[in-house]
Amino acid sequence: MSDTLTQVTANILKSRDVLLEINGNSIEYAAPEDIQKILNIPEYGILDSSHKIHDHDVIPAAFHSDFFDSLMLLFNDKGRFSITDYPALKMNKTHLEKKLLGYLSFQNAVFNINQTKSIPALYGLLFFRYKAISDEKKEGVLTFLFSKTFHSISVLNDNQMRVIFDQLTNKNDITDEILDDHDLLIAIQSMKPVLFSILNDFTSSLSRRLKRDMDRVSSYYHSLKEELSNKRSNVDKDAELMKDKIKAINSEKNWKLNDLRSKYKMTIQAEPLAIVQIHTMVDSIDLTIKRRLKQRNVAIGYNPMLKQFDFPVCEACFLNIQNETYICDETHIVCEKCYNKCPRCSKLFCKACYCKKCPKCGLL
Ligand SMILES: [Zn+2]
Ligand SMILES: [Zn+2]
Ligand SMILES: [Zn+2]
Repeated sequence: MSDTLTQVTANILKSRDVLLEINGNSIEYAAPEDIQKILNIPEYGILDSSHKIHDHDVIPAAFHSDFFDSLMLLFNDKGRFSITDYPALKMNKTHLEKKLLGYLSFQNAVFNINQTKSIPALYGLLFFRYKAISDEKKEGVLTFLFSKTFHSISVLNDNQMRVIFDQLTNKNDITDEILDDHDLLIAIQSMKPVLFSILNDFTSSLSRRLKRDMDRVSSYYHSLKEELSNKRSNVDKDAELMKDKIKAINSEKNWKLNDLRSKYKMTIQAEPLAIVQIHTMVDSIDLTIKRRLKQRNVAIGYNPMLKQFDFPVCEACFLNIQNETYICDETHIVCEKCYNKCPRCSKLFCKACYCKKCPKCGLL
């Protein structure tokens, strides 16, 4: 789910004991002294995250405002790339294993649980600002939790984010592993399909409007041509003239259609605003998945922040697996869309094994 900038700002401020009240795009606040210093704001005030021109006593808090940039300093003094701790969750291991047995199943493979142990795990809480621009504009902040240890992603709603923020503590001793560029690439890779699914309504409304306008243009020029052909005469000279007229109508129509295509063309921008690295202890359940003669060991953690299993994303499309989970002959974990029959030749194949290209007929 995607939050508005106002909600994200309010959550960050609340986690640092700022008293506040949200009113549309505005936040009325009372800030403690340390926060006033870091953010360079007065004790009381009004923040506004809309792009409108503000009164003198309102602090602009839209993207790219000085306030928003300084807000990221609150994660800690290291700015956008802060490192934090989250308390471990005490769980009964037998109970947890039972819970997983009730939750997990594969369509074409079996698994058994080997052991459950507490391990240190690393998460990244990532904030992305996105903007989709076409004839209309849609923007927002996408917040998601990426697990380096278990290769899972979860898009966070406002409430989940608040719960996590409330319990984060700054980490002083930075000896543990941190997220590297490779992890961030995987996280960004996973963010893209999530973003496309968030923009689904926006893009389908766009294509609906494009189709509607294109149909109108086509039918207008179609009736023009019909009118002309009704007047058709047998004189050769007129026939030539008619051909030229039809040619002119066709090129004007194509020009109008291209114009519409560029009007409705969509560009998407997404940039990371902040990354909070979270260290915590997680109960990790080691499984062996068996598919035909092959087997593979996989660990599934119980996320102490979201109180749910960190299940790996589909290894072909990087999306969370929603319905049925398949294991291919090479033991990739894939969703039903990525383990499917080719629409052209009906060959069943795994998209992680063949880079989304059918191995029999080459269809992409
Ligand atoms: Zn998939
Ligand atoms: Zn595969
Ligand atoms: Zn095929």
